Amino acid sequence: MKTTSSAGSNTTIRERLGLRPIINVSGTMTTLGASIIVPEAISAMAEIASQWVEMDDLQRAASAVIARLTGGEAGFITACCASGITMAIAGAMTGTNLLAIERLPDDTEGLKSEVVIQLGHIVNYGAPIDQSIRVAGAKVIPAGTVSVTQDYHVREAINERTAAALYVVAHHTVQYGMLSLEEFCEICHAKGVPVIVDAASEYDLRSFLERGADIVVYSGHKFLSGPTSGIVTGRKDLVRNAYLQNRGVARAMKVGKESIAGTMAALEAWEKRDHAGIRRREEAALNLWKDALQGIPGIGAQIIPDPTNNPLDRLQVFVHPESRFTAAGLASALAAGSPPVIVRNHEVERGHFFLDPCNLHPGEAEIVAQQLRAALTAKDRPADAMKVARKDSSGALRWPD
Ligand SMILES: *Cc1c(COP(=O)(O)O)cnc(C)c1O
Repeated sequence: MKTTSSAGSNTTIRERLGLRPIINVSGTMTTLGASIIVPEAISAMAEIASQWVEMDDLQRAASAVIARLTGGEAGFITACCASGITMAIAGAMTGTNLLAIERLPDDTEGLKSEVVIQLGHIVNYGAPIDQSIRVAGAKVIPAGTVSVTQDYHVREAINERTAAALYVVAHHTVQYGMLSLEEFCEICHAKGVPVIVDAASEYDLRSFLERGADIVVYSGHKFLSGPTSGIVTGRKDLVRNAYLQNRGVARAMKVGKESIAGTMAALEAWEKRDHAGIRRREEAALNLWKDALQGIPGIGAQIIPDPTNNPLDRLQVFVHPESRFTAAGLASALAAGSPPVIVRNHEVERGHFFLDPCNLHPGEAEIVAQQLRAALTAKDRPADAMKVARKDSSGALRWPD
């Protein structure tokens, strides 16, 4: 039997379940299991699993932890960030009207039911964000164009039916030509419209509220390394209205006691985390990979900062034809390797991919370096080495086969 440690990768359960022993250098991906859950959260989850608890009291305790870490007046834990977005929007529509909560999503009679969002913020994080709005029963009102939103676009999009406005902070959004959070809040607040911020994948737990947001929603399973969960924080009345949706549309987004306790523990661990030490280890991995790629024909590499200023760098790997790979072909070759290495490939059609160092177990950085060199220095190339990048959903349509 293979031994496992809480810090090492748990190959035994993957073997038992017939799962490939992947190494994740793509980031905190839902499709790869979301996060390496920190030990503090794992113990809290195990400890609470067999206990009865009064869930409102557990969420009350979570509210205090969330308030302390984020500076919000109150907060709660839900199934994921997408759920939190839907709940915050539904809350802005219903207020404390318990009957209206049960009437959503299709019966919005008498409720404010429009949500304004800059067009360049209508992202897809595995599902389209406009659907997280529509699930509440709200109508999406896009403001501006893909490349430019100005103050008047948002101001004119607001009317007496506007329930809320949604602002997205993410590398997924158009990174230029959009309004700043401050400008967006100023326009919305002048018309009495609350601003909900999707900050799913941001390190900074405080600044979006400080900069004017009324509610901010985070993922518990991204940088926080908690169990799959979402964290809602902000103005107490709006947080309460969102929480009340557990009696309505959010029933289908139910969070368990184990995820609440686990996320609370992850938040507390985040406060004590050795952020500087982690950063140093990540930088060492990036330099190791950059050196491994040095001098390989047709391959370039540069360390680049995170696009939304999270304290994280990634290695951008440029794949030119002289390497006898396309970026998509090299990404596939690495994913087919032993062990499989899954790179960050959302821009692969542009001839590059990224290596993200933030989800590595000890020893994995070295394996990634070896796998990179092995793929690129092999005499023969796989049959699809020069394949063109295409979005392909055929695998999804075959599941579970
Ligand atoms: C990941 C992500 C989401 C979805 O978060 P979940 O917690 O997985 O639902 C929403 N918005 C952005 C910007 C994201 O990056």
